[in-house]
Amino acid sequence: MADFPGRARVVIIGGGAVGVSALYHLAKAGWTDCVLLEKNELTAGSTWHAAGNVPTFSSSWSIMNMQRYSAQLYRGLGAEVDYPMNYHVTGSIRLAHSAERLQEFQRVVGMGRYQGMDLAILTPDEIAAKYPFLATHDLTGALYDPNDGDIDPAQLTQALAKGARQMGARIERFCPATGARREGEDWVISTPKGEIRCDYVVNAAGYYAREVGKWFGRDLPMMVMSHQYMLFDTIPELEQWSRAEGHKLPLLRDVDSSYYLRQEKNGFNLGPYERNCKAHWVTPDDPFPEDFSFQLFPDDLERLEWYIADAMARVPLLEKAALTKVINGPIPYTPDGNPLIGPMPGVPNAFEACVFTFGICQAGGAGKVLAEWVIEGTTEWDMWSCDPRRFTGFEDPDYCVAKGMEVYGHEYAIHFPHHSWPAARDQKLSPVHAETKALGAVYGAYNGWERALWYARPGDDTSEAGSQTWRRNGPWFGAVAEECAAVRDAAGILDLPGFSRFRVAGPGVADWLAQQITGKVPGVGRLGLAYFADDKGRIVTEMSVARLADDEIWLITAATAQAHDREWLQKHLAPGLVLTDESAHWSTQILTGPASRAILSQGTEADLHRPWLTWQTARIAGAEVVLMRVSFAGELGWEIHSRLADTPQVWAAVMAAGKAHGLKPFGMFALNALRIEKGYRAWKGDLSTDYTVLQGGLERFVDWSKPEFRGKAALEAERQAGPRKRFVTLRIEAGDFDPPYMSTLWSGGTVVGEVTSAYWGHRVGACIGLGMLRADLALPGTGVEVEIFGVRHRAVVQEDAPMWDPANARLRA
Ligand SMILES: Cc1cc2nc3c(=O)[nH]c(=O)nc-3n(C[C@H](O)[C@H](O)[C@H](O)COP(=O)(O)OP(=O)(O)OC[C@H]3O[C@@H](n4cnc5c(N)ncnc54)[C@H](O)[C@@H]3O)c2cc1C
Repeated sequence: MADFPGRARVVIIGGGAVGVSALYHLAKAGWTDCVLLEKNELTAGSTWHAAGNVPTFSSSWSIMNMQRYSAQLYRGLGAEVDYPMNYHVTGSIRLAHSAERLQEFQRVVGMGRYQGMDLAILTPDEIAAKYPFLATHDLTGALYDPNDGDIDPAQLTQALAKGARQMGARIERFCPATGARREGEDWVISTPKGEIRCDYVVNAAGYYAREVGKWFGRDLPMMVMSHQYMLFDTIPELEQWSRAEGHKLPLLRDVDSSYYLRQEKNGFNLGPYERNCKAHWVTPDDPFPEDFSFQLFPDDLERLEWYIADAMARVPLLEKAALTKVINGPIPYTPDGNPLIGPMPGVPNAFEACVFTFGICQAGGAGKVLAEWVIEGTTEWDMWSCDPRRFTGFEDPDYCVAKGMEVYGHEYAIHFPHHSWPAARDQKLSPVHAETKALGAVYGAYNGWERALWYARPGDDTSEAGSQTWRRNGPWFGAVAEECAAVRDAAGILDLPGFSRFRVAGPGVADWLAQQITGKVPGVGRLGLAYFADDKGRIVTEMSVARLADDEIWLITAATAQAHDREWLQKHLAPGLVLTDESAHWSTQILTGPASRAILSQGTEADLHRPWLTWQTARIAGAEVVLMRVSFAGELGWEIHSRLADTPQVWAAVMAAGKAHGLKPFGMFALNALRIEKGYRAWKGDLSTDYTVLQGGLERFVDWSKPEFRGKAALEAERQAGPRKRFVTLRIEAGDFDPPYMSTLWSGGTVVGEVTSAYWGHRVGACIGLGMLRADLALPGTGVEVEIFGVRHRAVVQEDAPMWDPANARLRA
């Protein structure tokens, strides 16, 4: 194999739409010394048989960004690389059967407009005008996306491949990667044609990704579903209509019934996501095949009968057509249905771009994102929704199958803000789970940990259906109001298992941390809030710092941030320092409210008059605990950190002491209400790499006097120029619905910012929004409007201080 490349900068394993797009984007960025290995012919995995729909719709901002980028790329790609493609931009109609569905669409219209797309809501009459063969009597409306359409997935892949090759990248077909090993700073990838050494490696192996991942010590959180679509023969009426109109029908999605129906030549393509769905390759009698190139599963129409009947009732024309072909192919799923794009957790210079459920419409954007990760170590858009580190290792095959089937069966479902999906729950239980359950807790999962969302009172509706609403005033609302009142007037206790906790120790740990964070490192015995910026000054993460000793700190962070933050710390760790993940050994109670000192004083000898932002060890019910005087709820309070085994006795002692003081358990919904009244930001909502530390309004956590810290140069330049947008707190006259993430802010008829989180503050009695506003408008008293589900509501910019207890007097009490 004289011509076989022995060395490359990047090796990509897998030549489906995604892997080839990654190669194209690396080459486009100037990294042409890259090789893609494909075990068979390009597209042999899921790509060759995909239906090729290219929607831009998503209720996730980042996924929408990726899909919008793809659609734009595909429009120009054929001409750019001189490879004409079948790409039909037909537009699409997404039907709404309910008011809630229409609200979902309204929100997406707002997000789409902010991304420069012209999505629109249609009335039933307008639907009929665009789609004459459709029964509209039971519809509340529809979403029209003019950018939607379908592309030939094989042609798309070949066009990207041609473009990549033209720029100098290489593709080795019929060349499987068979293993990977680390030698010094190199990855060595073995193939039957020889070995390739490279600096970086990318797993883009589609549904084979778990097999490839094993070489890197990874157990990928994924499973494989069987997904079908059916092709129907020519229908003369449709042919006639298309000829007369000069175009095809828009792509139809009946999302409440759960299928899409697309005009295919002059017939139809019907593709359901059925509830009674089927996973493949999960049982011993259905083992994962070594090679499934260009293969399909046998047809299985029985599962689809209801959907076929429903589609025929919706578009009666379909009844006239003969079914000509069924495609039943493998489609991989992660537990949340989003792909894995980004650094391979715990593995140096290795990346993932795999497990795509919608890999045709996302390939373009995914290639861009992957190339940025490899080249720059960061991405233009915050891509946490697809970051492999959002999974932390507890996701075993049973969990992946249960969640994958749940996501597939609800592929088009509405994601309501107070709803928790029920499959594969109870993965990790708090040491006092039985106790909180007995008190009426209704749970949600955080990195697998079950935490109380709220405590139902006798008679409260705790059904799943009860939580499927956009309304603020759902079944939890009264209970949450009482929980917040208890925290304000007496005391509340929140059982918080699963905080992520890292111990970093060694000589010079404080100096090291000072370089990593924007602000000051607290002294021994003290606590602080620390912000980690990237080199561009953007917000990577936020952690609480407890300075345990001169050479020892604890960093405490969100449950879901465990793998992400651990990796960030590990990557930047100085020689001589040791990082240990202690998350699994500890649990936490938040005891907060004016009576919390009286309650705590009954069970411990600790000095409870030590000031806010200090910590001490103490004993409660015989157990050693760490008391931290902080409160995310914004009242007098302590976090009680106890070892797992000690937690039940600590909980029992505090609950017993609290009886006489009106102590009440509270949940995550109440905590969200309480923190937003204090203006405390939430990670990956208010705090993300979409914003710099200065835009985030965090200048008080920047110590400019430090000679150096990561991001300093970029932040100094931004300070000189003045940030373009600024963090604001808004009091919103919101009506019945709090604005969801990325609801747009308006002024004078133009969009001037966005809401990053919003909730009802029970102590101040108002809907409070945190968000980003054009800098010239970010002045207290300025009136703006917030678009909430398509309706604009008045909002006023607040002082740059918490709306509850602006002087922090209650915290310091
Ligand atoms: C019936 C059906 C319809 C679909 N319709 C749509 C749609 O309309 N729109 C949409 O966006 N998505 C659709 N999808 C999903 C889409 O097909 C996939 O998400 C997409 O093809 C994934 O692309 P990929 O590049 O990640 O993976 P793949 O296309 O599976 O590519 C992975 C490649 O890696 C290669 N490979 C694996 N192991 C190795 C190795 N060791 N060495 C070298 N090469 C290796 C494989 O041969 C394969 O070619 C559909 C899927 C199905 C099943």
